[in-house]
Formats: sequence, C-alpha cells, structure tokens
Amino acid sequence: MIALAWWLLIAPTAAAAPPPPPPRPAVLIATPRGETSVPLTMERGSAAVAVSLLAQPLALTTALDGLGGGGGATVGLGGMTFVFQLGLPFARAGAAVCVLVSEPYVARDSLFLPLRWLAECVPRALGSRYRWDAAAARFEEFRAAGAVAAPAANPLTGLRLHHGVVIDPGHGGADPGNPGRYLPGSLTEKDVTLAIARLLRAELLRRGIGATLTRSRDTLIALADRGAFCKTDCDLFVSIHVNSIPEGGRGGGGRSERVSGVETYFLSEAKTEDQERVAKMENQALRFETLPVGGARGPVDFILKDLQLNEYLRESARLAELVQTRVSQVHPGGDRGVQQAGFMVLATAQRPAVLVETGFATNRTDGAFLASSLGQHEVAVAIAEAVVAYLLEFERRRAVVGTGGK
Ligand SMILES: [Zn+2]
Repeated sequence: MIALAWWLLIAPTAAAAPPPPPPRPAVLIATPRGETSVPLTMERGSAAVAVSLLAQPLALTTALDGLGGGGGATVGLGGMTFVFQLGLPFARAGAAVCVLVSEPYVARDSLFLPLRWLAECVPRALGSRYRWDAAAARFEEFRAAGAVAAPAANPLTGLRLHHGVVIDPGHGGADPGNPGRYLPGSLTEKDVTLAIARLLRAELLRRGIGATLTRSRDTLIALADRGAFCKTDCDLFVSIHVNSIPEGGRGGGGRSERVSGVETYFLSEAKTEDQERVAKMENQALRFETLPVGGARGPVDFILKDLQLNEYLRESARLAELVQTRVSQVHPGGDRGVQQAGFMVLATAQRPAVLVETGFATNRTDGAFLASSLGQHEVAVAIAEAVVAYLLEFERRRAVVGTGGK
C-alpha cells in the first residue's frame, strides 16, 4: 500500500510530457448509416463547416449559383431546400427565415456554412428528423420518417410531433411582484403566478406536451436567465404575471380600481403609455437581482439590441393573439387585447415568447378570480388550449414547407 502511494505521488512528475495540442474543433455527424467527425473552421471568427464534408454523411446536395459576393447557394437536406445568399447571415427554408450568427462564404472552392445552421436552423425546420446536442457537439439524423408512416396524431390534441414549452412564473423569492390590494391575506403576485404556472404545466403534460418551469418554488431567477431555459426542446416561452395600477396613477379618482381584465404581450417597442408602464413594472424585478444586467447602458438598450435579432416577432404576435382570445373567454374582467412592449424576460427567449398579465390585483373581481383555485385553473386551461392551437398551426405550416417548399 505504502509503495503504491509513493508511486502515485511520483508518477505525475516522472511521466511529465509536453501537453497535447488542443483538439481541433469538430462536430460528430451521427446517422443510421454511421458516424463521421467533421472538422470545424474558425477562420472567419465563428464556427463554420465545409458543406462538401457533410455531403456524404448526410446525403446532402449543394448548388452554387456564382462564386464570390452576391452569389447564392441552395442546400438540399432531408427533403427540404435551404437557400443562402453569400454575405448575408440568413437561411431561408420555404417561407421560414432562420438567422445565422455569421455569413455563409465560399473559400477554396467550397461553400462554408455557420455551424448555427446545423445546430439551430435544421433541427427547427426538420425537428422530427434531426437533433443537435450542444454538449456533445453531435448532430444526429434519425431514421427517415417519410419512409415509414407519418407519426400518429395525439388523440387529445391532434399534434403529431413532440413539443416543449417553458413556463415562467413571474417574480419569486425576495421579489414578491405586486402586492395586490385585492389578493387576500399575505398572497402576492409571485404566489399567483407560481400557482397558475404549475397548473399550466399539468395541463400541458396531460396533453402530451413537454413543460418546464423556470422556477418551481419561491425563488428569484434573474430576468436575463429566465429566457435561457427555452433553447433545445423548447417551442415557445410563456411568462405569467399579475397586473396592477398604482394608486393615484393616471386618471386618478379610483381609475386604479376600475381597470380590469387580461392582456397578452409580445416583445416589441411599447406604443402606448399603459404598455410602457407595464413593461417598466415588470422590468423592475431587476432591482432585486445582485448583478447588473445589460451593463451601464441599462436594460432598454439590451432589449432593443435583441429586438433586431428577434426573428419570432410574427410567431410571438400570433401566439399572443391565441392566448389572449382563449383567456379572455374565461376571464371575468374582460379583454384588454394583445399588447406589445419591451419586456426583458422576453428578449432572452430564443423562441416565440409571450407574457400574460392575467388580471389586475388592484381590481376586486380580478383579484378574487386570480386568488381562487377555480380562476387559476381556468386561466391555465385556457393558456394550454391556446398553446395547442398554436402548435397545430406550427405543425401545419411546417408540413406545407416540408412538402411544397422550393
Ligand atoms: Zn409581474
């Protein structure tokens, strides 16, 4: 034993050798036909892959129309055609556009595409066929679904594919959210949002849809971290909140008590004073966080910067419309419509994202509705039905793109 211990102590020094060179970055292409390691290049600053090296393992086809600036390229993969414009950081697949971190380029007579195309655009367009595992740097192709029967529809929802949803109960921990004049006892916004979120999760799971909560108990999650839950296995992001009107606010004379109803937001610039007020109120959660987010420029710049990258504006607006319609049908406080504002929590989600202000805690009827388990349940069911309706549209759109895309 003692001799062995000595050997262990000495061995590392005795065996000292020059450190091995860092491994060349590569992606593993795993298909039913075998596995191939394909090297990545960083020559233009971000990871890119030579399409010629993917041709054989993925049975991918490429056509370049003109080399150099201004030319285009089409790549056929899994029955879908992706169209690129050299020098522009986008990939088009049918009607859908996917934003790339860098531009496709031609070097040494080969087309190079940003890794992001493989990691994000392809799985998004052809999710039943391809999957990206970031931790393992592995791109996986599943057995062709087209060769066998199309997946059966879920009898409850009509959905054919697996979907995942991230649910974000607003506030938590040190941040109670709004105290709510008409929430009974010590109940605050953070309790109501958690209760609705838990019920929504159960309703989605019951419908065969994956659901994750950004928090499942009374803890504070930084606004910038909440959206990050929605990456892989996430089709959309729903943040749950409770609205309020400050006492003596605009209009005065009891306006705060009279205002009631549900509103659903998607991320865009606020257009009205009310939208501005709600975004400010929800972004205030920042003051409970220990680390400043967005640096010295503050959260507004942060949001506007991300807006330019938000390719989900239209999808988010559609999701907001469906949620708003369903929830307002069960809500005693009325329909305040789809709204838009600069919510930080939505800026970080990399998928279609909405924020539901489920009612006003400063209104007697809304407060009682949101504090009751029946009201919380009704709101959760309505949001779950809206999510199903949105995903059905999403599957239909994708089927059209997949079969008829040029
Ligand atoms: Zn809130």
